[in-house]
Amino acid sequence: MSAIKNPEVKFTQLFINNEFVNSVDGKTFDTINPATGQKLAAVQEAGVRDVDLAVQAADEAFKFGSPYRQMDATKRAALLFKLADLMERDKVYLASLECTNNGKPFKFAMEDDLPTAIGVVRFYAGAADKVGGSVLPSDGKMFAYTRYEPVGVVAAILPWNYPIEITCVKIAPAIAMGNTVVIKPAEQTPLTALYLAHLAREAGFPPGVLNVVTGFGPTTGQPLIEHPKVSLIAFTGSTEVGSLIQREAARCIKRVSLELGGKSPLIIFPDADLDKAVRVAHLNCVINQGQCCVAATRTFVHESIYDQFVAKTVELARKRVVGNPLDEQVDHGPQIDEEQFNKVMTLIDSGIEQGAKLELGGKRIGQTGFFVEPTVFSNVTDEMDIAKKEIFGPVQQILKFKDKEEVIERANKTNYGLGAGLFTKDLNTAIEVSSRLNAGQVYVNQWLIGGVQVPFGGFKQSGIGREFGLEGLRQYCEVKSVIIDMPVKI
Ligand code: NAP
Ligand code: MG
Repeated sequence: MSAIKNPEVKFTQLFINNEFVNSVDGKTFDTINPATGQKLAAVQEAGVRDVDLAVQAADEAFKFGSPYRQMDATKRAALLFKLADLMERDKVYLASLECTNNGKPFKFAMEDDLPTAIGVVRFYAGAADKVGGSVLPSDGKMFAYTRYEPVGVVAAILPWNYPIEITCVKIAPAIAMGNTVVIKPAEQTPLTALYLAHLAREAGFPPGVLNVVTGFGPTTGQPLIEHPKVSLIAFTGSTEVGSLIQREAARCIKRVSLELGGKSPLIIFPDADLDKAVRVAHLNCVINQGQCCVAATRTFVHESIYDQFVAKTVELARKRVVGNPLDEQVDHGPQIDEEQFNKVMTLIDSGIEQGAKLELGGKRIGQTGFFVEPTVFSNVTDEMDIAKKEIFGPVQQILKFKDKEEVIERANKTNYGLGAGLFTKDLNTAIEVSSRLNAGQVYVNQWLIGGVQVPFGGFKQSGIGREFGLEGLRQYCEVKSVIIDMPVKI
């Protein structure tokens, strides 16, 4: 399937109460194509009053007796299934728009982002009418049962690295459980969330169920998280902003879920399938230009296979095709913007200064857009910045280890705990080491497999709560216990 080379930007206004509207004060901001640095469109910028209108619409839609609150769970499921079908219908357009706004290669958007986004909507559509409470055995004369009720208005604050996928990961479970949502996409990537809102309206969602306010963290995100009618903040992004959101949630006891950053270790034991380990380790470090929270950015390789592993990695990295993300052959596009580009380049420089060996890459490609060469460092040690900080760029760190105890300790020596992995053919090593790695997902002989059914989320400063799978529904419901006094013991 070919990309649409110049996808038309159809929606640039805020989406409130099933209408596309201008912001109250008419402010706009430019969204760009990171492959060219050129403006794609001027998008409406939501301020305090727009945020209030969106939250009021969501709150109205949530009120007891509203069409949405009266809706059967099977109907909510049907609407989500319809939304997934419409996304499937417009998949090539959505993937092309995503690539133009985000810079990710079209083939990955088609093979990974869109299937996951559509899959997650279908998964939670299927769950909408199947999750319920239970009748409880009780002491004495009473009848007790639990009900899973929606929390209310959800503020979904999104990052720019997987825009449509993360939008769906938030809205699908929220809607499946009967919540209403106000989405704030990242300032860099507002376009696919707006198109998704259009599809939700076409699918038949009532006004106010899904709203999109585009704009910036301090002026759009902040009033949204502070709004008294928001009951839950569902956030994906940096640990710094996540911490700020948790503080706000603490101020008025809002529910909060946080999906934050990582510095995930992947351990290659000497008995690993070497070629596969090289491929998986490299790909999952540079995929999406390294802009992936669960990138395998610390590759620990046993000393007995270290030199061979590095040589094979360099050979592989050379083959990555860099270029226009809309070209179907391209593996590697630009970083999202100049700020991220500069951050990546600074960290690469620090790696060289602190004594790591630059095996490949490390430079800017061209002067147009924000392209960074796929980069491989060897001789990386634990105290270097490139081994500790989240780079969010296509930069692989290869570290050397001697034995199992040492590498487990080093792998866990981080404040993050999102992903971890190991390559070994030994079952005992696989089970023991995976149980001792402190991370929300641990992969054996692969990376980032699991799919929409498997819970995903962080230990430690990588987050709070789980997304995907039935676990992903928990944060979107309150459990209510109803206890009825009975004249007899039943
Ligand atoms: P970010 O600053 O954490 O932003 C994430 C979202 O939060 C954006 O929509 C942002 O708005 C919003 N936001 C910022 N300040 C806010 C506030 N005071 N109140 C409410 N919302 C606020 O992430 P970023 O700017 O996109 O990237 C910075 C770093 O975050 C990256 O270098 C990377 O390390 C990390 N990151 C992690 C993930 C992940 O998946 N875990 C994803 C993306 C980025 P704006 O659009 O205005 O920024
Ligand atoms: Mg930002």
